[in-house]
Amino acid sequence: MTLYAAPDFDQHEQVLFCYDPELEIKAIIAIHNTHLGPALGGCRLWPYGTEQEAVYDVLRLSQGMTYKAAVADLKLGGGKMVVIGDSRQPKPRAFFNKIGEFVESLKGSYITAEDVGVSVENVTAIREKTQHVVGVPDGFGDPSPFTAYGIYQGMLASVAHQLGRPDLDGLKIIVQGLGSVGYNLSKHLHKAGAKLYVYDIHQPFLDRAIDEFNATAITDREVFTKEADVYAPCALGATLNSETIPALNVKVVCGGANNQLQDATHGRQLRQRGILYAPDYVVNQGGLVCVWYETHKKPEHLIYQHIDALKDTLTEVFALSEEEHLSTAEAANRIAEKRFKPKKRPFHQTIGL
Ligand code: NAD
Repeated sequence: MTLYAAPDFDQHEQVLFCYDPELEIKAIIAIHNTHLGPALGGCRLWPYGTEQEAVYDVLRLSQGMTYKAAVADLKLGGGKMVVIGDSRQPKPRAFFNKIGEFVESLKGSYITAEDVGVSVENVTAIREKTQHVVGVPDGFGDPSPFTAYGIYQGMLASVAHQLGRPDLDGLKIIVQGLGSVGYNLSKHLHKAGAKLYVYDIHQPFLDRAIDEFNATAITDREVFTKEADVYAPCALGATLNSETIPALNVKVVCGGANNQLQDATHGRQLRQRGILYAPDYVVNQGGLVCVWYETHKKPEHLIYQHIDALKDTLTEVFALSEEEHLSTAEAANRIAEKRFKPKKRPFHQTIGL
């Protein structure tokens, strides 16, 4: 496997491979960029098919965190941790303690949090070994409700832009993944009067959405083919790809999953099809904003104010995309890069003249 030359490596500052033979832990911490501050990003526990898949995922996720922190205007860099394993198999407390030790070894250049497969309870066990963890129960706890709130705001802005509508009343919305983010997002959408079409590989989560939100269950295939107004990806990444995009029958894509585009060409493909894509890291920044305020011990109402600003960012993204004929993903990247990439100084400044 080539690593440094791989496009996803993208000048990562550090990649740490962690291993514990007794607890059988294989974990990878990736630090993409710390120009704006320490790298913050959750810890994902997932049964990756291969080690390469885990490496690919952690690199893409940590890069996304750099962009997310920059568009959210937070003094944070981007990082992420993945652990190869199945969260549905019970794990001893020592397992998460060890993960805490791995995080601690980086002395604060990486700050962890929960992500897919890692609960607030697991985060508490990680905290027994490191202070460099956020999203803990004595802070604001689970950040997903804040993430979901931001996606809801982003969806309102996207629907207003694309459909010229001020609300979601009566709109048909496909929600893929009904875990922490998808469930909390569905609450907002149901309250706003949307009709929900839902899918999750975990049947109890599907049943809960049918019960609580009068949602209609659809199949994994229908997620990408059903006629609706909005598709909200809230499971894993890369669901927008050459196979799914031609089949999509929606006008807006706006959801919480990280790295929804398989690669940059897919952002352009969506644009060509006239589907408005709300860039994932712009609309799912709410959890990151929440943990930043937790770390800085700021009151909760300020979090909502901060998250609301993502609507202005989206307006800027949509305008730049139209003016420069870019995909919305490319437009968002440009805005983020202006903030986190160090400006090259003229030579005379560099040598102090
Ligand atoms: P979660 O583990 O609570 O939920 C994920 C859900 O997706 C699970 O219910 C799982 O069964 C389901 N799922 C997995 N594969 C699926 C598939 N192929 N089709 C349908 N459902 C599938 O995780 P979460 O915290 O809700 O995160 C969801 C996504 O949002 C992830 O991509 C995560 O990185 C991203 N995200 C989460 C936060 C947060 O605050 N939790 C913040 C930003 C981004």
